[in-house]
Amino acid sequence: MKNVVIFGAPGAGKGTQSDKIIAKYGFKHFSTGDILRKQIAEGTELGKTAKKFMDEGKLVTDDLIINMIDNELEAVKDASGVIFDGFPRTYAQAEALKVLLNKRGTDVSVMLNIHVDDEELIARLINRGKTSGRSDDNLETIQKRLVTYKEQTTPVIDFYKKEGSCVDINGVGELDTIFADICKAIDSSK
Ligand code: AMP
Repeated sequence: MKNVVIFGAPGAGKGTQSDKIIAKYGFKHFSTGDILRKQIAEGTELGKTAKKFMDEGKLVTDDLIINMIDNELEAVKDASGVIFDGFPRTYAQAEALKVLLNKRGTDVSVMLNIHVDDEELIARLINRGKTSGRSDDNLETIQKRLVTYKEQTTPVIDFYKKEGSCVDINGVGELDTIFADICKAIDSSK
């Protein structure tokens, strides 16, 4: 079983590249953002709490996320591979994911660290906001999300560097060139 963490700032192309990975490898998609948006649409207590953080460009607290993913992992346990998209987003979440995967006899195979400069990220997210219908794809919230990413999420890179599974990917250029680099990293992972 391959467990792929697709990592990068908001707008780095994680969702787009995840779709291509799913089409090629048949992996299951595990997106904490999608799970949270579903909770919001269903009007659950978790959704109501999460929405406040999301609309401010802040992270939902680690305890809520970690509790939520333990249940959600059950749904993907028989997959040939899983893509973790938008998770882990803090060092504590990366540690928790390792514990939860080890408990199931598996571990992260590769972490794809997609690099895109800030100017390009903002342009992409503003553009996405025209059609995504997402309440957090506006300039003010985008800027907050980028600060949150730098302050709270980039330490995740150190976690996977120490684990030896971090592979840097240039996320600017032709979609297919980026995807070819991603496939190379997945194919040569354990
Ligand atoms: P995304 O769809 O991955 O861009 O996530 C949208 C928003 O959901 C983020 O800005 C956070 O507020 C929240 N979120 C998604 N995943 C996580 C996570 N792993 N930890 C904390 N908050 C998250």
